[in-house]
Amino acid sequence: MTTILDGKKLRDKIFEDLKNKLDKMPVKPTLAVILAGDDPSSRIYVNNKKKCAEKLGINSIVIEYPSDVTEKEIIEKIQELNNDNKITAILVQLPLPKHIDKLKVIDTIAPQKDVDGLTTTNCGKLFAGEKPYVYPCTPKGILLLLDEYNIEIEGKHAVVIGRSNLVGKPVAQMLLNRNATVTMCHSHTKNLADIIKTADIVVSAVGKNVVGEKNIIKSDCVIVDVGIFRDESGKVRGDVENVSPAYLSPVPGGVGPMTIASLMLNTVELLSFA
Ligand code: NAP
Repeated sequence: MTTILDGKKLRDKIFEDLKNKLDKMPVKPTLAVILAGDDPSSRIYVNNKKKCAEKLGINSIVIEYPSDVTEKEIIEKIQELNNDNKITAILVQLPLPKHIDKLKVIDTIAPQKDVDGLTTTNCGKLFAGEKPYVYPCTPKGILLLLDEYNIEIEGKHAVVIGRSNLVGKPVAQMLLNRNATVTMCHSHTKNLADIIKTADIVVSAVGKNVVGEKNIIKSDCVIVDVGIFRDESGKVRGDVENVSPAYLSPVPGGVGPMTIASLMLNTVELLSFA
C-alpha cells in the first residue's frame, strides 16, 4: 500500500504555526515580487504568493514590468529594493523574458533578502556545506515533507532526476548534506531504469513522465514527484505514474503546496537578517 506524502496537509499546519507567530510579531516582513512579461502561469503564481502572504499577515508588493523591460531597469529596481529597509525579502518570478540574463538579475539580490535562496552566495554556501541565509523553496519543501513522514535519509540511495538550479542540483546537495548517497540523472543518462531499480528515494523534477509501469522499484521506495505539466488533453500530470512505492507525493497536492509553504517560511526567516 502506498502512503501519500500529503503536501497540502503539511502546508496547512505550517501556515497555522506561521500565522500564530506572525500575529505576535511587532514588525512584519515585507516580500517584494518582481514580475516581468506576460506569462499567464507566472501571473497566477505571483497572485497566489501575494494572497498567501496577506492571509498570514506578511506585507507584499508586486512590481510589474512589460515583456520589453530592459535588464538595466530590473537590476536598478532590485538595487533600490536592496537598499530599502522596509523590504525584507525579494523574489524574481521566473521565467524572465528571453533577452534578460536571469543569473545576472538574480545575483543582484542581496543574499540576506534572497527569499528563493538562488543567488550565487546562497547556492555557494549550500554547496560548501554552510548554512545559506535560506534554502531554495522547492528543495526545502521536499525535505520538510520527507521529515514529516519520518523518512530516513542518512545512508539511503537517493536518485534525483533533473539537474536544474531551481530543484535538481540543490535538492541533490541537501540530500548529500544529510548523508544520502546521491545519483543525479538527466536527459543524457543512459541507464535510468537500472538506476531507479536501486533507489531508496527518488526525486523526479523533469516535467514529463519519466517513471511509470515499465520501471521496477524497491517495495520500500519513496518517490517525490516534483514535475507538473499539462498533456495534450489539458490534464495536469506529474513525472510519476502507475507505480506503487511505499510513499509517493501526489501531483497536484504534494510538492507544490510545500514550495509555497517554504516561501512563506523563508520570508519570515529573512526578517532576522534585516
Ligand atoms: P527544468 O529546468 O525544466 O529541467 C528539467 C530537467 O529534466 C533537466 O535537467 C533535464 O536534463 C531533465 N530531463 C529532461 N528529460 C529527461 C529525461 N527523459 N530523463 C531524465 N531527465 C530528463 O526543470 P525544473 O525547473 O527543475 O522543473 C522540473 C519540473 O518540476 C517541471 O515540471 C516544473 O514545472 C516542476 N516544478 C514544480 C515545482 C513545484 O513547486 N511543484 C517547482 C519547480 C518546478 P538536461 O539538464 O540534460 O536537459
